[in-house]
Amino acid sequence: MATATVPGQLASAKGSSGWPIWGHDAAVATLQQAIRRSRVRHAYLIAGPEGVGKTTFALAFAQALCCQEPPAPGLMCSVCLACRKIGRGVHPDVQTFSLARQAALAEKSGGKNTSLTIETVRDICSTVALRPMESSWRVVIVDDGETLQDIAQEALLKTLEEPPPFVVLLLLSDDLELLLPTIRSRCQTVDLRSVRTAAVVESLLAAGIGRERAEEIAALSGGRPGWAHRAAADRKVLQRRMEAVDRAFSWIAGSGYDRLVTAVRLGDTFSKRRPETFTDLETLLGVWRDALLLHADQPHYLTYRGDAERLNELARDWTMNDLHRAVCSVQTCIGHLEANVRPRLALEAMVLEWPTSPPPGRP
Ligand SMILES: [Zn+2]
Repeated sequence: MATATVPGQLASAKGSSGWPIWGHDAAVATLQQAIRRSRVRHAYLIAGPEGVGKTTFALAFAQALCCQEPPAPGLMCSVCLACRKIGRGVHPDVQTFSLARQAALAEKSGGKNTSLTIETVRDICSTVALRPMESSWRVVIVDDGETLQDIAQEALLKTLEEPPPFVVLLLLSDDLELLLPTIRSRCQTVDLRSVRTAAVVESLLAAGIGRERAEEIAALSGGRPGWAHRAAADRKVLQRRMEAVDRAFSWIAGSGYDRLVTAVRLGDTFSKRRPETFTDLETLLGVWRDALLLHADQPHYLTYRGDAERLNELARDWTMNDLHRAVCSVQTCIGHLEANVRPRLALEAMVLEWPTSPPPGRP
């Protein structure tokens, strides 16, 4: 499992920004400038969808801060002892806290591991207080920040209010809405959006993946390099993505009644399955968008190339207008859910916008 392609391990090759990061050039430039001008903040909130590359980005920032022989301020050499230790996750001044780490530490408790606990936050706070041993910074990365419950966030606040001068805390979150405004206001937010497919291909090539496979995975990645690297290292990740695509196709193919039933079910479980529901909606959006692209005779931009046949059916049987309205309905629904509209309402309104006449050739 541990290959050079897994997020959390850094490649030594570099993208155009000078960091081992492909795509997030504006975000990289902001942090490089902060280092160059000695204006590094004590807390950053690195936000973006699951798999967009937040962990890799955080580790690259840590390298740029701690590198012993930076080619220029804000860059890392990738080969000094500090860079290599960070790349392997063993630098004593760079710690990552995450659900995975918490689960490994609490193996015997056997409880559910769905949120970062107050105990983990206490660990974070005591780590933050320790002077760095090998570099001038202590970098504390808190992954899965969206799972911190309010009480744990409040415990973290104190550290954010009075951070020791040598500390840089990087809070990673899939979903800013789940963080208290008091937390958000004390961090500088770095937004990582999905990147161009070509950038995902480049990052996979740099990690030694063959071109054909890199293009196939990148097309499925939805512009999320972190996901792409996981998929390259683990076939199950790709498998789960295929299953999500199947779910999207059957939702679309269902009768008006079946579509509503699915919408209601997802609406009612939204609070417990928030990230999964967003992933399902992104997949659904991709399927509708692909059908629209095919209808417009633009097959080069397809996300789900492997499903061209099923997509062709949708493209053929509905009009451009139908497909466009469906695409917009999913975008609106995602926006509504992010704005905390009642989930069931948002999802029902979405499916009611879809073209209803059952396409010929289907039951
Ligand atoms: Zn270095």
